[in-house]
Amino acid sequence: MKITKVEAIPIRQKGKIEAINDSSQDGIIIKVSTDAGIVGYGEVDSAPWVVKAIIESPASHRMAIGLAKIVEGQDPYDVEKIWNDMYKYSIFYGQHGVTIHAMSGIDIAIWDIIGKAENKPIWKLLGGQFRDKVKAYASTLMPYTPEEAYEETKKHVDAGYKAIKLGWGGFEQDENTQVKLVEAARKAAGDDVDLLFDIGFLPSEQLTIDAPSRIQLVKRFEKYHPYAIEEALWPHDYEGYGRLSENTNTRIVCGENETTLFGFKQLIEIGKVAFVQPDISRCGGFTQARKIASLAEAHSINVVPHCWSSGIVEAAALHLIAAIPNANLLEYDVYPTQLRFDIVPEDIKIKDGYAYIPDGPGLGISVSEEAIEKYRCDDIPRGE
Ligand SMILES: [Mg+2]
Repeated sequence: MKITKVEAIPIRQKGKIEAINDSSQDGIIIKVSTDAGIVGYGEVDSAPWVVKAIIESPASHRMAIGLAKIVEGQDPYDVEKIWNDMYKYSIFYGQHGVTIHAMSGIDIAIWDIIGKAENKPIWKLLGGQFRDKVKAYASTLMPYTPEEAYEETKKHVDAGYKAIKLGWGGFEQDENTQVKLVEAARKAAGDDVDLLFDIGFLPSEQLTIDAPSRIQLVKRFEKYHPYAIEEALWPHDYEGYGRLSENTNTRIVCGENETTLFGFKQLIEIGKVAFVQPDISRCGGFTQARKIASLAEAHSINVVPHCWSSGIVEAAALHLIAAIPNANLLEYDVYPTQLRFDIVPEDIKIKDGYAYIPDGPGLGISVSEEAIEKYRCDDIPRGE
């Protein structure tokens, strides 16, 4: 079997894009076709039109070739070699960031092709099934007042979730307000629901984002026993994460902005995070994610994949979770963006706070070609 075509299709909802949101108001679908008629789908949660340029770029130098040109003509079963070829021949503009994101989308689509060719779910190709369901945490934005934080948390407790994450939003306010938000969320959750807080690292006049300040803040949160505190520092601040992890009694976690095995090695060994959060659509696809999972296993920590976009990324995360020993949680985006439901109309099954692992061939989901065409936006939107 040979790969005949790699397409990068930006999609975008009509109207305004909110700055604070889940990532699925726009996106980029990766479609990989083969001479056997099998089509694989991937997605990249990154800057869609930058990803498109990286995939479609003509060859400029032996070490600066657009990804489609590297991949087309190869046998999808050579997925590991294909990953290495993409890494090698993009080295002038790659190694980190959006090039690895773009590679991730292609890698997911290739695994989808192999699964469909074998008539097996991806988890079966990754080593088989440790679990057929996993606790899903409802992932949402932290409101700005304690009353709203209480209501938001209560809503997801009432919906049956056993774990909830509130992130960003209200955490850009002063530290006393942040503590009140955490207190309100715990009051609404009771003692038996795990609460995760993604406190964000963007600078604001009211906050200092450094390890000593974050150690103090996390210690104030500890009274309300958070399950984990996410991205309290800049993602690259490995030394800072190490200090924060060693000086608090809460799980300090990070990883959605990290890429490749090399990046995660630093995050784990220097940052000493309590679990890692690779996004399959950014970290390097399944081909890197399974290695990152093994590295995490060797350091006695779990993998809790980041997913905050469409059902394609969600399904990819579930296949990894099914196939590795060190997984116990799925991030489930409860933000109701219509585009996401249109692209994968039959969403992941969630029941009593658990997400069920898809068991159809490949990713085990149906991607709507009709919706892709409806939302397709090849030209770069101007003026925003
Ligand atoms: Mg996050």
